[in-house]
Amino acid sequence: MARIAILLNERCHQKECQWECQAYCPPVRMGQECIVEGPNGKPIISETLCIGCGICVHKCPFDAIKILNTPEADEAEIVHRYGYNGFRLYRLPTPPVHGITGLLGPNGTGKSTALRVLAGVEVPNLGEFAKPATWEAVLERYRGTALHAHFTKIARGELRAVVKPQYVDVLAESKLSTGAYVAEAGGDADGALRTVGLTDQADRPMTELSGGQLQLVAIARTLATDADLYLFDEPSSYLDIVHRLEIARVLRRLGREKGVLVVEHDLALLDYLADQAHLIYGEEAAFGVISHPLPMRSAVNTYLTGFLRDENVRFRTEPVRFVAHPPKPGGRRNLAVEFPALVKEYPRFRLTVEPGELAKGETIGIVGPNATGKTTFVKMLAGVEAPSQGSPPPGVTVSYKPQYLKSAQSSSLRERLEALRGDPAFDDKLFERELVPGLHLDGVMDVALTDLSGGELQRAAVGLALARPATLYLLDEPSAYLDADERMSMARLIRRQIERQAATALVVDHDVYFLDLASDGLMVFGANAEGTQGAGAGPFPMREGMNRLLRSVEVTFRRDAETLRPRINQEGSVLDREQRASGEFYYEPAA
Ligand code: ADP
Ligand code: ADP
Repeated sequence: MARIAILLNERCHQKECQWECQAYCPPVRMGQECIVEGPNGKPIISETLCIGCGICVHKCPFDAIKILNTPEADEAEIVHRYGYNGFRLYRLPTPPVHGITGLLGPNGTGKSTALRVLAGVEVPNLGEFAKPATWEAVLERYRGTALHAHFTKIARGELRAVVKPQYVDVLAESKLSTGAYVAEAGGDADGALRTVGLTDQADRPMTELSGGQLQLVAIARTLATDADLYLFDEPSSYLDIVHRLEIARVLRRLGREKGVLVVEHDLALLDYLADQAHLIYGEEAAFGVISHPLPMRSAVNTYLTGFLRDENVRFRTEPVRFVAHPPKPGGRRNLAVEFPALVKEYPRFRLTVEPGELAKGETIGIVGPNATGKTTFVKMLAGVEAPSQGSPPPGVTVSYKPQYLKSAQSSSLRERLEALRGDPAFDDKLFERELVPGLHLDGVMDVALTDLSGGELQRAAVGLALARPATLYLLDEPSAYLDADERMSMARLIRRQIERQAATALVVDHDVYFLDLASDGLMVFGANAEGTQGAGAGPFPMREGMNRLLRSVEVTFRRDAETLRPRINQEGSVLDREQRASGEFYYEPAA
């Protein structure tokens, strides 16, 4: 059987190891040139000589090698390949002329690559990585298909495409003001800033903006570009629930006249936003295969049930399940933590949180728009910020995962684990036996924390936080940087661990499916119109918490008949109006 051998270049530190990959390779020991030194000094692994034993994968001290069987897709369908032992993308989405198409799949399976190829930013090499790629070859390959017309126009410069890039953090390094940056796109900058609600920020330097504001600036610049095809790579990152919905409405309006392609991991949002979607399956950093388009409802349902019938592909062994009715209160709650009213005063912001009770075994979601004080509240409980009034309850041990992660340490997770072994403030057995496999960290144990991708670092940080024995776990935006699959499996893992340890967790997040799967109850935050007074209350049971949140953001959800997953109602639809009138914004009324 043919193999795919992947070398993760940035992880391979060939000068700091003993070339264990080569030294232990059975074919090499038999005298075959299965692993040789390449022109850049790094190993090249022969896919024809490889016997798939996996010894190099285990021996590599930096987890830099992957050996896999080739996917079901036909080799003739390769669109792009990053080098001999590099990632390969099979098939492309069909770019819409009008309307919105989604792209849904795991991290590292080629979604950004597909967007760059469709936009003409990257000429696809069709697998021929050794030669310079040309549009002639691309047109030849796609002759007689829908993509032929697209690439013909792209190659002639007759179709303008613009990409909203995935990473917006880098914009904080720009020397420009918000307005000047958006104006560079050449179109109606004022109109675009107004559309995303940033008119009053036009003169501010980008260095002063929050992550959410940078995302809105990136979206505004894309909107201000005069194009035929608009490609949005993860527009919801850093945005709160209110802004996610606003951006969804903006993109839907855009889709009435233009073609829009969106990569998005917030399933409730993608479901609401797009007309149809391509699913992607594959292996992170190794290969990705793009499915045929499915109508939006069945795309998400297929993703949740985990089986793509048309292509006979299974992505998941167990389907993800939701419940349509609010969970029944489970009798007497065993109180773990009682916190008094807490107040924090900043020069331009005052937060008041009502007193509350947290029970053992419960995971409580913290929801609300950005800048309403959620992080400040969590920091007060974590002992990082001192309250101006009230004090966090004494005798509570806390484990805290902050919102923004930075890893200055060049150590790996395995080195951290060894250093913490025997420390009473770290449960090494729980970490190794439950959290490493549960968070799919096995493959990155030997990678320097500084080399981890955003999603890997997030999973590592959550794992390390959950392994510290505590009464109260505080997790600030654990779903950031995760793909939809990772979000759902992490939500379930957090809930299960907290229940099992009879601890309590407070989880700040904006992804409705994540919150639904993780939480037993909700705390709801809000602020006055000027943004100077924030207020937090709860925990409330799920139904009341969801109703409070969704009433304030004016959104209702209905249930999908097949999977019971919540789906955002169209504004003003019959169901939307009925549910608003009855005050049931999220759950079906109890039978
Ligand atoms: P996604 O958007 O689904 O996360 P990407 O298209 O960004 O996936 O990348 C898929 C894989 O392709 C990455 O995991 C990486 O290994 C590889 N890759 C991306 N860009 C490059 C590049 N310029 N050179 C080599 N490999 C790359
Ligand atoms: P959220 O987590 O809901 O986004 P935050 O708790 O981060 O909200 O912030 C709430 C408000 O408090 C914001 O207006 C923010 O600017 C302000 N704020 C947060 N930290 C500080 C600080 N250290 N000094 C002054 N103002 C702050």
